[in-house]
Amino acid sequence: MEEAAKAKIDASAEDLNALSQDIWSHPELNFNEHHAHEVLTDFLEKEGFKVERKFVLETAFRATFGCDDAGPNVCVICEYDALPGIGHACGHNLIAECGVAAGLAIKAALEANGNKYGKVTVLGTPAEEGGGGKKYLIKANVFDDIAVAMMAHPYRYNVPRPIALSVIALKIKFHGKASHAAASPWDGNNALDAAVMCYQAISNMRQQIKPDCRIHGIFTNGGAAPNIIPEEAELTYYLRALNEGELAIVKRKVLACAEGAALASECKVQFETTFAYANLVSNDGLASIYEDWASSLSVQINTDEKLRRGGSTDMGNVSYVVPSIQPKFAVGQGDGSIHTRSFTVFAGAPEAQAPTLIQAKALALTAIELLQPDGQDKLKKIQQEFKDTISKLTVPE
Ligand SMILES: [Zn+2]
Ligand SMILES: [Zn+2]
Repeated sequence: MEEAAKAKIDASAEDLNALSQDIWSHPELNFNEHHAHEVLTDFLEKEGFKVERKFVLETAFRATFGCDDAGPNVCVICEYDALPGIGHACGHNLIAECGVAAGLAIKAALEANGNKYGKVTVLGTPAEEGGGGKKYLIKANVFDDIAVAMMAHPYRYNVPRPIALSVIALKIKFHGKASHAAASPWDGNNALDAAVMCYQAISNMRQQIKPDCRIHGIFTNGGAAPNIIPEEAELTYYLRALNEGELAIVKRKVLACAEGAALASECKVQFETTFAYANLVSNDGLASIYEDWASSLSVQINTDEKLRRGGSTDMGNVSYVVPSIQPKFAVGQGDGSIHTRSFTVFAGAPEAQAPTLIQAKALALTAIELLQPDGQDKLKKIQQEFKDTISKLTVPE
């Protein structure tokens, strides 16, 4: 099964590269990934998968292959959305390529085994960059029959167990009362003053948060004109923490700052959450199998603790529903981390191809260990670890 998997990726390398290049040259944003959806589903259908297009969401898909009667269903995840203005600066074209390649390899392995045990699902998940596509799929119970989920994300280093923080994007809106700022300022309630006091209060409070928490915000409305006491003002913040429980503490402190500022300025305050992702819970058992395979494929794993730190991902939410891994892998030479123009170049460069396909092999070989009857014990351990870990955490809404 292992040989069949690796051989399939090698034989499909050119087509997989073309797929990735196609997505890279057509960057599409949150929930508008129509071109990527089309080329990926066409490709998987041609390769013999049962494909469900526009699955739950307009630009999501599910492609399956295997045996429904025996064995686990292993899921590999594709992302394919880009960033505004700077294209595929998060390299999601490579995530799509890696997911499809791993899917093809697992399918080849199942066939080599007579297609009598186990199943693979390639899941197309749109809008990772702020839209939270995976959360809609979770709500639609798509992961109910999935044993484990995995994907690989391009980065500057090989980090099998990255830290992705819980995040909430929060709009804080202050409502005051407009008045003429020269003729009758005493008739107004200044919403901008409330926003400034809130910003300052949060900046002071920041000293009392844990080292892994992050609070970063901007003014998104500061009033209409200098001669009007501002009746509306707005701040937009991202709050992040190691897990959902820690994030709830940070959020409580931020809301208190906003409420205090509203009280002091006789304004009203209103909160709106625009998106929220849970932290990534890497399954230790699954990650260990992946690490062994990645090392056997000559991936130089970086153990520097600093390099584990990054942003946030909706794969975090998946990791609360099924045992999951999201290893990061190295592409690119020179300066530039993800979300930079340099990384857009790395994600489209020919040099990104070899590491992407090596990752696809590592994911496929990890899955294949669980897709054989003697992998049942390993899977049981993985699922027990998942239950034990999640039961100790605050589960995201
Ligand atoms: Zn990103
Ligand atoms: Zn990304």
